[in-house]
Amino acid sequence: MFKYRLLTPGPTPVPEDTLLELARPVSHHRTAEARQILAEVVEGLRYVFGTRHDVIPLTCSGTGAMEAALIQAVPRGGKALALVAGKFGERWLQIWRTFGVEAVAVQAAPGQVVTPSMLESALRQHPDTQAVCVVHCETSTGVKHDLRAMGELVARTDAVFLVDAVSSAGVMELRMDDWHIDFLATGSQKALMLPPGLAFVAVSEKGWRAAHRHQPPTFYLDLKKARDKIREHDTPFTPAHTLLRALRKSLEKIRAEGIENIWIRHARLAQACRAGVQTIGLELFASVPAEGLTAVRVPANLDGQEILRRLERDYGVKLAGGQDQLKGKILRIAHMGYIDFFDVLASIAALELVLQQMGFAVALGSGVAAAQRAFAEFRSD
Ligand code: PLP
Repeated sequence: MFKYRLLTPGPTPVPEDTLLELARPVSHHRTAEARQILAEVVEGLRYVFGTRHDVIPLTCSGTGAMEAALIQAVPRGGKALALVAGKFGERWLQIWRTFGVEAVAVQAAPGQVVTPSMLESALRQHPDTQAVCVVHCETSTGVKHDLRAMGELVARTDAVFLVDAVSSAGVMELRMDDWHIDFLATGSQKALMLPPGLAFVAVSEKGWRAAHRHQPPTFYLDLKKARDKIREHDTPFTPAHTLLRALRKSLEKIRAEGIENIWIRHARLAQACRAGVQTIGLELFASVPAEGLTAVRVPANLDGQEILRRLERDYGVKLAGGQDQLKGKILRIAHMGYIDFFDVLASIAALELVLQQMGFAVALGSGVAAAQRAFAEFRSD
């Protein structure tokens, strides 16, 4: 028997009191209590995103929020730049193209980031672009993008700035208003410490101006309709209100800890995890690693899928592998939301055991000790 430990970069574990909240009887969604909950969660999400603008809860996964943002921002026949550093950046491209938008990719090599200077020259080359979209933390490779610098560049143009914050909101520094973000999309199953099922889009005034220039090709994801309702603490359709009730619990915890302390906590976990895996002899995959997960290369001659299988089967540790062309080539350890330092330590200890069993030379305990040292010595600046 062992304890199951979920260290995937989504879904992530859900705290016990939230699970109990989810076990409570279902109430009706058109009540004064439901409206009060909506008002509170919108206010809490504004705090997490660093915005005073409209925040719209949607009943769908994170991709639904991305799609909602995209189709409000640019009409069919329009043009957009997608900054692509992995699978989720590619998803922006796919969505644009599905809706007849000319999407130009600004591409980074696997494990690398799109830099602000790459964006600057793309904006120069495509002055008619109507939107720029980027994934803050590219969960498929573990890199993070410099949103602050990018936001400044986009703000000087007429284009709107769209950010996928699915695995960064509640993990890394994120300041929607200060960084000139016009559409921010995220989902429930990462650092918001909930099961999948809710997604959120926040929209700036510049974003609404872009949305008002056309009628988006959608019925369900019409954000203007949703905005008019949410301003009255209501939704156009039946919301996943049991999840919204649970979200209120998460947001209470986030407020109590303080968002800046949460960013520091994640930075500390990330530093400890990186020190642990590197001491074992694993190489970091991300050139600019994000704070919510650590991606490492699978050592030559080892089967990445087998490492994952053994971690789960023998030790109950569930990590993620690579996706698409990175399958079998990288391992991803999440440290976001309700994943704490001792979960990270357990995953490093289990990795040491599995790698040793598979013939990779590891000094047992060396990664654990390095992670502990990095954790103990962490200083936030
Ligand atoms: N964007 C990022 C950065 C993600 O990590 C994910 C999910 O893993 C998504 C988008 C897609 O979200 P969903 O699977 O909830 O649709």
